Amino acid sequence: DLHSAIERGELSLYYQPQARIDRTITGFEALVRWHHPQRGTIAPGTFIPIAEESGLIVQIGLYVLEQAARELASWQSVLASDAAPFVSINVSSRQLDSPDLVEAVTGALSEHPVPVGCLHVEITESAVMRDVARSQDVLKQLKALGCHLALDDFGTGHSSLSLLQRLPLDYVKIDRSFITAMSGEFSGESMVGAIIQIAKILHLTVIAEGIEAETDELRLRALGCQLGQGYRYGKPLPAPQWQ
Ligand code: C2E
Ligand code: MG
Ligand code: MG
Repeated sequence: DLHSAIERGELSLYYQPQARIDRTITGFEALVRWHHPQRGTIAPGTFIPIAEESGLIVQIGLYVLEQAARELASWQSVLASDAAPFVSINVSSRQLDSPDLVEAVTGALSEHPVPVGCLHVEITESAVMRDVARSQDVLKQLKALGCHLALDDFGTGHSSLSLLQRLPLDYVKIDRSFITAMSGEFSGESMVGAIIQIAKILHLTVIAEGIEAETDELRLRALGCQLGQGYRYGKPLPAPQWQ
């Protein structure tokens, strides 16, 4: 089914806001959804692993890139007078390994007039760790195209501090499990505080993932976190619902 999902137009992007801790929206993360004719809407957690295994992720990744650039370009014309919002796409390890990624991003950016710095790319630690030297090279090239780069799900993979230093990153996204742990475990809040401090030393902007409660927001503000993403600021929705 996944093979023909793209041709049948069953994939679409939902956008979840990323906001300053004062709630001003700064941009959106593009999250893919599969609208299956029999099964209904399928979350990426179910089909991305299958797509990774089968190699279909490369094709899905191209769709995500094209669609995000197209929708972002149309947003720019709507919001011309305000500060330009960014759109952040997720890139998987297979895509990072593929020799075509940089070319595909170049193509999408030249086809759709997106301001420099408004297309963000998220990669996970485990994707980067497969081949650090190659990842470094690809990320440098993406950076040269004007993309901003975020390390996704930080803390759940190898969490190597040297990675934070060696990669040309702009953002670190603290995984939702750490944000959830702040209200439970005694050490939870200190862990998040420590990650924020390390990020500051390395001049990286922190995005806290999965902020749901006001108490999370207040704690994060006190710890000096700049940006957040989570149901508190909005759930993922199709683009027209944000316009
Ligand atoms: P992610 O990149 O870490 O995206 C954040 C996930 O957390 C999203 O799930 C989002 O809906 C969910 N989330 C955000 N805020 C909250 C909150 O306050 N509470 C809770 N409980 N959840 C929250 P989603 O959309 O199901 O995506 C899951 C994962 O699938 C993503 O995690 C990402 O790794 C992957 N993914 C999504 N779209 C793509 C894509 O286009 N390409 C690739 N390669 N992976 C994708
Ligand atoms: Mg992400
Ligand atoms: Mg994440």
